[in-house]
Amino acid sequence: MLIDTHSHIYSKEFDPDRAAMIRRALDAGISAILMPAIDSETHPTMLQLEADYPGRCLSMIGLHPCSVKDGFQTELDQVEALLKQRSFIAIGETGLDFYWDLSFKAQQEAAFERQIEWALEYRLPIVIHSRESTDACLEIIKKHTPRGLRGVFHCFGGSLSQARAITEEGFYLGVGGVLTFKKAGLDQVLKEIPLEHIVLETDAPYLAPVPNRGKRNEPAYLPLIAQKLAEATGTAPEEIARITTGNAKKLFAL
Ligand SMILES: [Zn+2]
Repeated sequence: MLIDTHSHIYSKEFDPDRAAMIRRALDAGISAILMPAIDSETHPTMLQLEADYPGRCLSMIGLHPCSVKDGFQTELDQVEALLKQRSFIAIGETGLDFYWDLSFKAQQEAAFERQIEWALEYRLPIVIHSRESTDACLEIIKKHTPRGLRGVFHCFGGSLSQARAITEEGFYLGVGGVLTFKKAGLDQVLKEIPLEHIVLETDAPYLAPVPNRGKRNEPAYLPLIAQKLAEATGTAPEEIARITTGNAKKLFAL
């Protein structure tokens, strides 16, 4: 059994075949699909999906850094209202994205800090998006790990020194399809990192693993990533499943 710790299965890309896609995931041995929130436009479909698949599709709540624009405080207020209403498995996804748009950098940082405070207040893990911003995110979380902040750097694709710095803070590395990309070199990094620090994810519908690279990604492809991690680390696939599933259960209190 594997857990897909980061999957946007509520997104429009799955409108034509969502039920069949979830069926394929269950058939592929995916016992749970964890859904990171993006913004108020997608919160309702995410929460509906969770209601339709209790115990299988589980919601986080937060504001994605790419959705931090003018009026982001209102978005955050909506997140906070939901947090007060009911329980979630994590805060996220949050973090910083310095790839797409730098014009809201200060606002992204403010939104990140506010979500960190919620993670601490509600004792939830935080799911971090750190595109072109891994070191900046690390600097921010380091201020809060002594207060008990924990979580995962989702879609990790950084260097060995970054991987070590993240795991030294007690954070996990979220490993997805990038591991299967030949030129990424992530296999060389991960073979140096104890498996106790790794959780698996697809980030569907993005970043499909080889041999489906470039196509729509879906949770049923997670075993391709697990298999590659097994090869990279010289570990039996069953061991990869046991350890990474155990890590996900521990981090998200499943
Ligand atoms: Zn995501």
